[in-house]
Amino acid sequence: MKITGTLVNYFFHCKRQCWLHGNRVNLEDNSELVQIGKQLHKIKSEKSKSGEVAIDSIKIDRINGEYLIEYKKSDADIKAASWQVLYYLLVLKRKGIDKKGKLICMEKNKEVKKVFEIVLTKSVESILVNLEEEIKEFIMTKDIPPFEYEPKCRKCAYYSYCVI
Ligand code: SF4
Repeated sequence: MKITGTLVNYFFHCKRQCWLHGNRVNLEDNSELVQIGKQLHKIKSEKSKSGEVAIDSIKIDRINGEYLIEYKKSDADIKAASWQVLYYLLVLKRKGIDKKGKLICMEKNKEVKKVFEIVLTKSVESILVNLEEEIKEFIMTKDIPPFEYEPKCRKCAYYSYCVI
């Protein structure tokens, strides 16, 4: 199976979400929040010169000069989003393209958006190589991780699946 940036993000955000998405339990088309995020990506990509870039199993929002840019609708889980960007940087590097990452969080009703610069180092590269295998094995396990309610569940596309 191919690892995607979304799977990497979910692996850090919620293991159960990663497992569900990896096993193609897809409820995201029904989620209003996911649709808002997708529209934000679309608008930003249309405004950019280069637009969304698809390479192998990943889709990058935008490449601008020395930066790969990923847009998020909030900074609710910077750690997960940062690993997603790092994974994109690794995929690009394997193609001989060296970039730095920029994570741009569009905060609702806030004028100042948060921008994080992300750099792929050698040590992070080797963590990501191991992580790819770890995620593959994790998704292939038979048992779905148990549900434990957390505040982040309220905004999750799998909320009804997990809670009801
Ligand atoms: S509802 Fe909560 S436990 Fe279920 S997939 Fe979403 S974040 Fe994970």
